[in-house]
Amino acid sequence: MVESPLKSIEFERPDAAGGACVAHAWARVPETLTPDRRAALKARVKQLLAERNAVLVAHYYVDADLQDLAEETGGCVADSLEMARFGRDHPAHTLVVAGVRFMGETAKILSPEKRILMPDLDATCSLDLGCPADQFAAFCDAHPDRTVVVYANTSAAVKARADWMVTSSIGLDIVAHLHAQGKKILWAPDRHLGRYVQEKTGADMLLWQGACLVHDEFKGVELELLRREHPRAKILVHPESPASVVAQADVVGSTSQLIDAVRTLPATEFIVATDNGILHKMRAVASGKRLIEAPTAGNSATCKSCAHCPWMAMNGLENLIHVLETGDNEIQVDPRIGEQAYICIDRMLTFAAERKKTVRASGDLARDTALFSGVGPA
Ligand code: SF4
Repeated sequence: MVESPLKSIEFERPDAAGGACVAHAWARVPETLTPDRRAALKARVKQLLAERNAVLVAHYYVDADLQDLAEETGGCVADSLEMARFGRDHPAHTLVVAGVRFMGETAKILSPEKRILMPDLDATCSLDLGCPADQFAAFCDAHPDRTVVVYANTSAAVKARADWMVTSSIGLDIVAHLHAQGKKILWAPDRHLGRYVQEKTGADMLLWQGACLVHDEFKGVELELLRREHPRAKILVHPESPASVVAQADVVGSTSQLIDAVRTLPATEFIVATDNGILHKMRAVASGKRLIEAPTAGNSATCKSCAHCPWMAMNGLENLIHVLETGDNEIQVDPRIGEQAYICIDRMLTFAAERKKTVRASGDLARDTALFSGVGPA
């Protein structure tokens, strides 16, 4: 594995418009609502979705009410790969994407004829922010012998420069496929996922040094201490986490794969190292099982286990209603960039369709763990 000299950026620093920093995101996270208010707003969302012929596509990390609404109204709650597929194939003319900006952009690139709305256009991602298109293009230009593979969590302009897009659920398969063809890889932007894929595949990979500010906070030493308190718990880890955390995992997987693991593995206790928005779905599919959040900080910190993405948290019922009522916050992608970016996304979707890979655990933990670990990081 070869690492690039690039450094990750400081996310407390606002962009020129003051819109990208973490503090700005937390300040815009909707307030907690009373049960009556939530019920009224949810009813209004259902009414508007029907009136506007719109469908709600939500990520597992967003507010639980939005996840429920997506499922109750014929939309979907999913990981980013499935969100992309679902939005592309659904006949609705208007998609409302409850997630972060790159997800809305991907939906627009795949379905340029559709109207893509998002509750808050400032909902971004540290991986996207840490990989500016101009710097990335220069990096690619400096390594023309490498196949460029980018994670979904990037801007349309970065995707336009890539040969392949991957999500965490299929990244390992695609890199293994390219490695088998003798290709050398330029990988961006998540350094932890890149390292994990490199270790699993043995591919020659040059890594951009980005990170997810949520998963980067999981602490290996603290996780080890927590495991001693819960010796029977199985450890579920998203591969955007540091190596010291991944090394302790029973299952390394994408959001969908981690949910599947909770549902199907015979253990009754799990320690979960990913954004805690996922716990809503995990509780729904495995109500009798105990879910413990992995530690994000040591004893001296004010917050022990608080892995939650500030940008995902910006999606709420009220701003969802606002965009449905007004049509505000429509995602726009330069058509020229969109056409170029489409190539690497479509390549991934075609690859996924050809593989038609389904991963289901059987109840044999040893075998299942090997199965999940072998399938990939996403
Ligand atoms: S959880 Fe991490 S990778 Fe996902 S959107 Fe937030 S910052 Fe980006």
